[in-house]
Amino acid sequence: MIDYQGILNNIYQEVSKETDKGEIATYIPELANVDKNAFGIHLHLISGENFSVGDSEKKFSIQSISKVLTLALAISKVGSDIWSRLDVEPSGNPFNHLSLLELEKGIPRNPLINSGAIVIADVLVSLFENPKEDFLAYVRDITGDSSINYNYKVANSEKKTGFNNYAAANLLKSFDNLNNNVEDVLDFYFHQCSLEMTCAQLTKAFYVFANKGKCLLEKTRLTKSQAKRINAIMLTCGFYDEAGEFAFEVGLPGKSGVGGGIVALLPNEFVISVWAPGLNERGNSKLGMQALEIFTSETNQSIF
Ligand code: GLN
Repeated sequence: MIDYQGILNNIYQEVSKETDKGEIATYIPELANVDKNAFGIHLHLISGENFSVGDSEKKFSIQSISKVLTLALAISKVGSDIWSRLDVEPSGNPFNHLSLLELEKGIPRNPLINSGAIVIADVLVSLFENPKEDFLAYVRDITGDSSINYNYKVANSEKKTGFNNYAAANLLKSFDNLNNNVEDVLDFYFHQCSLEMTCAQLTKAFYVFANKGKCLLEKTRLTKSQAKRINAIMLTCGFYDEAGEFAFEVGLPGKSGVGGGIVALLPNEFVISVWAPGLNERGNSKLGMQALEIFTSETNQSIF
């Protein structure tokens, strides 16, 4: 039996020594108020056991991690038809890159970069009368936790400074790949990104992907094939222009957010979340990546 708690404690010791903790995202002003020294990990084994260290029960802004959850909801409702509007190739570019979108005539490279997530947001705005309420209900349902909520301050803060996302949405609209108003789609998108969770809650939300589409309460929310495909997209696209590096160092499907969270999973085995708000130059949690590299090296558990 692997000594998971011992390994998490070692990781905590290791990363605490690190003097360069990366930089907090400030382009969304409300995110700048976070403590740079925060650090937490939660590990949820599919067999039911849980382990944690540090600030694993503190809420943080999950930001782009939400893109996997909106994708899951859209796929569960629309099925593979959504792939007529976006691709599944890694972009090799930053999450907010625009020139590729223009070059490829408004078809985003994948659903985990901003333009792709905005297309998925458009799908959900078309599907639901109250998309914000219905998406929140979905997240609470798969997680089995009704205390999860949006942070309206963060959503409004991003709305005020989200010029790049307005540019992406307008570009999509100009290529006829946005069916609703730019304003309505981005209002939904900024709210989904503002979702707050603890590391422990995040592992529960992603349990469905590690458990062949069945969520924590054993309800089937995705087919096995849909869960498999979403994991493939996380592996190839979950870290933007650092997806190769994450596969190389860590070797798990996962997703990062500019709030400093990373969630990663080994199908049929575990889900692990890390939160360390300082980011590297590519917008991924610096210590979070380091922590997960130590975790998969010490446990010898990865998909490879
Ligand atoms: N809400 C952020 C944005 O659209 C999400 C980016 C991220 O977490 N990488 O810029």
